[in-house]
Amino acid sequence: MKIYNISQKNLNSAANSILNGGVVAFPTETVYGLGALASNNEAINRVYEIKKRPKNNPLIVHIHSFKAIVSIVKYIPDYAYKLTEKFWPGPLTLVLPYKTSGKINARARANLDTVAIRIPNNPITLKLLKKINLPIIAPSANLSQHLSPTKATHVLKDLGSRLDPLKDMILDGGECNLGIESTVVDVTSDVPIILRLGGINSSVISKTLNIEVKIQKSLREKMKSPGMMKKHYSPKTELRLNAEMPIHGEVWLGFGKEIKKHDVKSKNLSVKGNIEEAAVNLYSMLRELDEHMAQRIAVAKIPNQGIGEAINDRLKRGAIKKSLIY
Ligand code: AMP
Ligand code: MG
Repeated sequence: MKIYNISQKNLNSAANSILNGGVVAFPTETVYGLGALASNNEAINRVYEIKKRPKNNPLIVHIHSFKAIVSIVKYIPDYAYKLTEKFWPGPLTLVLPYKTSGKINARARANLDTVAIRIPNNPITLKLLKKINLPIIAPSANLSQHLSPTKATHVLKDLGSRLDPLKDMILDGGECNLGIESTVVDVTSDVPIILRLGGINSSVISKTLNIEVKIQKSLREKMKSPGMMKKHYSPKTELRLNAEMPIHGEVWLGFGKEIKKHDVKSKNLSVKGNIEEAAVNLYSMLRELDEHMAQRIAVAKIPNQGIGEAINDRLKRGAIKKSLIY
């Protein structure tokens, strides 16, 4: 499987590949997505197979302009409209009531009567979506439950052997500039509920709407968003969080200025202590540390402000030892 750089020619080939039922990995501002036509049953099936994604985990529909939403959703509550105005294009996914005449494959929606939608904020993605001009599903381009890809090489490593070089493509748009998935908000009822923390901090959403937005904590009763499945986003190596320094058998993932008191393999999410930089580096550095096959990766305490909220959410999920299937 080859990685294609971004050129007019390669974007045209990628658009044609998707229109012909192929699967294309492309960059977004959050993480790399594995794109396919939202109406194509066969392509959707392949995306689930390639990712080994459980069938009950629905996919996010990506569109390039707000206009496209009319043919997909029944209605948009006023408060949700406010969110689209403020955060689209951007790392915000809205779960909305699905219009039965819509052309989004039922399997892509996991047979739910809702649909998750976003407009990504990356010029390459938007150009590609515009060329196709149809809704595209694009889950993260990694194996289910593993670390999301923030570079094209991550996609190649995870999925290269599972993609078809004659039909599919991997586009290289450089490193994703946010590095963490979108915030998923259920806006199907009177009050919004955050189903997955992500690129937009929950308090920013609360401030925008002038209400305290709820964050769905447990999915034991109702699995609203399997991205909230407890174990997710995880390296193969066990994680130890809020660590002060590594102990025997561990490698180290630091944050902020550190005086090195140890002699183990280490990475630093942001020497400057910049939380946005830490988000960009998170998955990539965890992947690198994972290669060392250490007993554990010890991770420094990460501040919970801004995108730190989502970083800590991912680290917590990655640290769970046994997969919990609800
Ligand atoms: P990913 O595609 O891997 O970034 O994950 C997409 C996230 O959106 C997952 O957490 C899904 O469970 C969630 N999602 C997609 N569609 C829906 C939906 N209709 N209702 C609730 N959550 C959804
Ligand atoms: Mg994912």
